[in-house]
Amino acid sequence: MFKPHNLKKLRVFVSIVFLLSLSFIFLDTKETFPVWFRESFLFLQLVPSVIQATTVIGWMALGILVVIILTLLFGRIYCSFICPLGILQDVITRIANLFRKKKRRFRFLKARNILRYSLLIVVVAASFSGFIIILGWLDPFSVFGRFMTHAVRPVYIYINNGISSLLFSINNYWLNPIEFRAYSWASAGAVVALMTLVVWMAAAYGRQYCNTVCPVGTFLGLLSKFSLYKIRLDQQLCNSCGLCQQVCKAGCINTKEKSVDMSRCVGCYNCLTACKSNGVLYSIGLPITSDASHNSSRRQFLGSSASLVIATAGLANTIDQPQHENPTTIPEEKNFPVSPPGSKSLDHFVSKCIACHLCVSVCPKQVLQPSLFEYGLKGFLQPRMDYHTSFCNFDCTLCGEACPTGAILPLTLEQKHVEQIGKVVFIRRNCIVRTDLTDCGACSEHCPTKAVIMVPWRKVLLIPEVKPEICIGCGACEYACPTKPFKAIYVDGNKVHQIADKPEVLEQLAAPKPEDDFPF
Ligand code: SF4
Ligand code: SF4
Ligand code: SF4
Repeated sequence: MFKPHNLKKLRVFVSIVFLLSLSFIFLDTKETFPVWFRESFLFLQLVPSVIQATTVIGWMALGILVVIILTLLFGRIYCSFICPLGILQDVITRIANLFRKKKRRFRFLKARNILRYSLLIVVVAASFSGFIIILGWLDPFSVFGRFMTHAVRPVYIYINNGISSLLFSINNYWLNPIEFRAYSWASAGAVVALMTLVVWMAAAYGRQYCNTVCPVGTFLGLLSKFSLYKIRLDQQLCNSCGLCQQVCKAGCINTKEKSVDMSRCVGCYNCLTACKSNGVLYSIGLPITSDASHNSSRRQFLGSSASLVIATAGLANTIDQPQHENPTTIPEEKNFPVSPPGSKSLDHFVSKCIACHLCVSVCPKQVLQPSLFEYGLKGFLQPRMDYHTSFCNFDCTLCGEACPTGAILPLTLEQKHVEQIGKVVFIRRNCIVRTDLTDCGACSEHCPTKAVIMVPWRKVLLIPEVKPEICIGCGACEYACPTKPFKAIYVDGNKVHQIADKPEVLEQLAAPKPEDDFPF
């Protein structure tokens, strides 16, 4: 048998390590952490691991096996040791306690089985039908990721930049400002809505999000009914004093009936240390919960688990653009949105991305922005390449390295240089050279493959000419183009990514360095 105090200490230590590390991974604006560090913490996140298992065979996908084995041995410890949203809820409960006059006492709550199993079935069915985003909306890792990306990260950047400008004013250049290009209000709205629910549930009822809404919690709850080690109340030693029940944030201990609902126990071990009469055991044993629907839950387990396994004030961007006198009149006609390099095709991307927004966080150019309905309802909040905000860095492959689900697959730099995610389209009648009879060439200047070149026009001017076959769809031309309201040059997404032709003159491949930005 384990020593109760040591188990709780271990849980607190491991959970702090996971929460801090995963937070730093989302806040890492300077590529401080090596890939192995990121992967070590990401590979145990259940939903990304399950989705990655359906995409690539890699050690990251092994995470699901580790989590299942841990759960079958020790119960739902994933929820208290590894899951960042679970740990965050514990922090919220603790903070909420600070504002109470009397210490919060939890009580036994009836399981909301119909709600939680229905949600799990809906999520699994939706994932099979291609609506994986519903899983992404509720998945704890993704909820945490969006919270970090759209709520914590902007605050972090503003504080960093505030301190940085203070230091600059006294000629101290120790801290560099971090560029902040765009803020997605749609994502912020979605984050606020769901986080309000999570915070309210955590502050008022402890782990009720985990036990009623979270599909991962429901799935692991089914598994943990069969775990080797179980929390149990000793029928002789327990005197039904209720101390353990009062500290159980999962509301799964019924001291009247001396039973514990293991499907809702999150493995925090608070009860072990609360009992004064050694009545709470954590040992190998048979389930003794009072759940009368054991057989039906077993059926639910076999059905749902199998399907889940398979289915499942910063620096403003101040670019001083040349003013054009005549507004453009021809709208851009984009047939498809542009998905990130490495995402293979729109279908692949939309069916694998859970909108955790880790790629949004790591993208140094901040060109990855959450979508609204560009991918359709199926892809709400999945990231897209937003060339009005920025452009894709020719020499960068970070999003593919970071994506934990395989929605964006890793590319080598060589592959990235010819990965065609979209093709350039030029609208001559919108071009400032034609509308204002003036020089420009911004698009050509910044095209890394020279898929846009300037050719003589009306004897004294140069106008762009495009070669879509060597364009990789990086969006540098679209971003640089100064015309308004419609761009004269833009990228239309490739439904299925292609390989671009190698540029004829390789010496012209003068890639903009990551730190370079547009000079105008
Ligand atoms: S490859 Fe492009 S989209 Fe991906 S992280 Fe780098 S700059 Fe951003
Ligand atoms: S593509 Fe981005 S948002 Fe989608 S799963 Fe990968 S890292 Fe997360
Ligand atoms: S034409 Fe535009 S999108 Fe294509 S490679 Fe050049 S800059 Fe990138």
